[in-house]
Amino acid sequence: MKTLPNMTLRDEAVDFIDDAFLESLLQAGPPDPGEFRELLAKGLSKEALSVKETAVLLRADDPELVEELFQAARDLKNRVYGNRIVLFAPLYIGNDCVNDCLYCAFRVSNSEAVRRTLRDEELYQQVEALQNVGHKRLILVFGEHPNYDAEFIARCVRSVYDIKIGRGEIRRVNINAAPLDHEGFRVVHEAGIGTYQIFQETYHRETYAKYHPRGTRKGDFLYRLDSLDRAMESGCDDVGLGALFGLYDWRFEVLGLVSHALHLQDRFRCGPHTISFPRLRPACGVNLDETHLVNDLDFKRVIATLRVAVPYTGLILTAREEPSLRRDVMAFGVSQIDAGSRIEIGGYTEVGDAQVMDREQFQLGDIRPLDVVVRELLTDGYVPSWCTACYRLGRTGEHFMEFAIPGFIKRYCTPNALTTLKEYLVDYASNETRAAGDARIRDELAKIPDGEMKSKLIERLNTIEQSDRRDLYV
Ligand code: SAM
Ligand code: SF4
Repeated sequence: MKTLPNMTLRDEAVDFIDDAFLESLLQAGPPDPGEFRELLAKGLSKEALSVKETAVLLRADDPELVEELFQAARDLKNRVYGNRIVLFAPLYIGNDCVNDCLYCAFRVSNSEAVRRTLRDEELYQQVEALQNVGHKRLILVFGEHPNYDAEFIARCVRSVYDIKIGRGEIRRVNINAAPLDHEGFRVVHEAGIGTYQIFQETYHRETYAKYHPRGTRKGDFLYRLDSLDRAMESGCDDVGLGALFGLYDWRFEVLGLVSHALHLQDRFRCGPHTISFPRLRPACGVNLDETHLVNDLDFKRVIATLRVAVPYTGLILTAREEPSLRRDVMAFGVSQIDAGSRIEIGGYTEVGDAQVMDREQFQLGDIRPLDVVVRELLTDGYVPSWCTACYRLGRTGEHFMEFAIPGFIKRYCTPNALTTLKEYLVDYASNETRAAGDARIRDELAKIPDGEMKSKLIERLNTIEQSDRRDLYV
C-alpha cells in the first residue's frame, strides 16, 4: 500500500470552491484560438491543466475549436491509454434513505418508491447472478440511512468477496454511499474496499441548497465537499469524484470537478482515481426544472475537457446513457463503463427485460447484457478488461502509473487485460463473442514484440484455455 504523507488531522473542513472566481472564469468571453491550442498541446503532453486553463477550453463554442478538443481527447485515448476499457456492474444493496434529494427516487418523501434492503441470502443471489455472467468488479450502492452504517457496509463488502461460484469471484468491490466520518472510513478501508466514490452532485452552493433541503444529512454542502479528504486521511487513498450533470451549468461543474481533483492532488500528493459525470435521468416521482439539462454535444464537451484537463484520472461513463451515445463517446478517453447493469434492488434476478421504475433510483439508458456490450467493444477495436492487479498488488494510484511511467501499459496493463479477457471468453462468452475476443487477442499479441514478456503471456493464456487456473496477473 502506498503510504500517505505524515499529516495531522485538521479540525476544519477546507472549502476549496470559490463560486465567484469560477463564475468569473466562465464569463471571460471566447478564448484566443492560439491559447486554446497551446492548452490542448499541454494536455497532450500529459500535463494537468489548472482551473483557469480548463475554463479556457470550456469557453470555446466555435465548432472548429470544439472539434479540435474532441480530436485531442481521442488522441490522448489512443496514444496514451490504449484501447482497454474496464468493465464493472453496480449492485444496489438498499434504498432506505433519510435524505430528500429532489432528483432521486429514493428520497424520503417519495411515497411511490418500493423500499427494500437485500437480506443475506438475497445478496448472495445477486452476486451469484453477477458472477455467472462474468463480472469481477462491482460497486455497491446504498441510500443514506442509519441502518447502512460503516459496519454494515464493511459486512456487505466482506460477504461479496467471500462468495465464489464455480470459477467466478468478485475481485474488487467499490462503494458508492453516503459520506462517513474518519472512523467510518477506517472501518470500510479495513474491509478491503477498492474505490470510495462520492458525488458532490453540484459544486454550486446555491443549487446545492435548492436540491438538498436544509436539516437533512445531505443538506450540509461543506461536510460533503470534505468527505473525500476524510476518506484519504483515514487510509482510503483510492477515491472517486462525480457531479450530477443537469442541476446547474455544466461548465461550472467541470470547473468544480477539476478544482476538487487538484485540491486532493495538492493536499495528499495523490489525485482522485476516477471522475464520473452522470447526467440527470427520469426517475419515479421526480419532476425537475429542466433549465440546466445537458445536451449530447455539451456532454461530449464535458468528457473531452476532463480528458485533456486531468490526464492522471480515470473517467467513468455509466449506463445512464443510451447505447449509441456510449459507443460514440467511448473514444474520448473513457476508461471504465458499467455493463449488464440493473439498478432495481434485486434487479439481477427478479425483473426480467424491462425496467421497474418504482424499484430503481432512476431509469437506465443501457440495460443490454454484458455479453452484448463486450461484443460491441471488441468489434469497435477495444480490449474489455476486468483487471484488478494493481489494486491487489498494492500498486494504488495505478492510473497515474499507467500514464506517467514509460512502458507501464505494455508491461502490466495490456497483458493483464488480455488474461482477464481470456477468462471471460472461456468461462462466460457466447460463441459469437468468443470468436470476436479470440481474434482481438491474436491482434493484440501481434503488436507485442517477441521476447520473455510475450512468451509468458502466451503461456498464461494457454493455461486459462486448458485448465481451471484463473487470476494469473502480473
Ligand atoms: N446515497 C448516496 C449518496 O447520496 O451519496 C449514494 C448515492 S446514489 C445511490 C448514487 C448517485 O446517483 C447519486 O450520488 C446521484 O448523483 C445519482 N442520481 C440520483 N438521482 C439520479 C437521477 N435522477 N438521474 C441520474 N443520477 C441520479
Ligand atoms: Fe438518498 Fe443518495 Fe438518493 Fe439523495 S441521492 S435521496 S442521499 S439515495
